[in-house]
Amino acid sequence: MDNCIFCKIANHIIPSSIVYEDDYVMAFLDTSQVTKGHTLVIPKKHYDNFLSTPHDIVSRVMIVAQRIGQIFIKDFKAKGVNILTNCYEAAGQSVMHFHVHVIPRYIASDGFRLEFKKNDELKSLNLPAIANQIKENLDHNKD
Ligand code: 5GP
Ligand code: ZN
Repeated sequence: MDNCIFCKIANHIIPSSIVYEDDYVMAFLDTSQVTKGHTLVIPKKHYDNFLSTPHDIVSRVMIVAQRIGQIFIKDFKAKGVNILTNCYEAAGQSVMHFHVHVIPRYIASDGFRLEFKKNDELKSLNLPAIANQIKENLDHNKD
């Protein structure tokens, strides 16, 4: 993709602080560090987001994300790690090349906040019906 900033990073056209690279995957520091060490893991080939990336590539990217998360716990003395990926603009994706954020967490008040807040307006949702809808679609869309 000509205008994709992460393709340019993957191809060494623009520089980044690279922490890992193989034939398929690259990992580099996010220029906007939300905590110290905040790393992005990407496939070198362009896929728009996690949802459109082939399984084998997702697997390679997640294995590298796992290894980096382990390093944050062991060597950076992080107390936790958030590993997350945003899909589409509505979910906060700003660079449309699949990437996984690996964010070390040092203390609860390190400035990064990811909150799963209960929405009381959704109290009356029919959870079994929703679960069934997802399940039926999974059953019909097997690879
Ligand atoms: P998103 O919001 O799409 O999940 O995350 C995109 C991330 O890419 C942001 O955290 C942003 O700071 C980072 N980013 C954007 N442009 C560059 C860049 O040129 N180099 C690096 N290293 N990170 C970038
Ligand atoms: Zn790209």
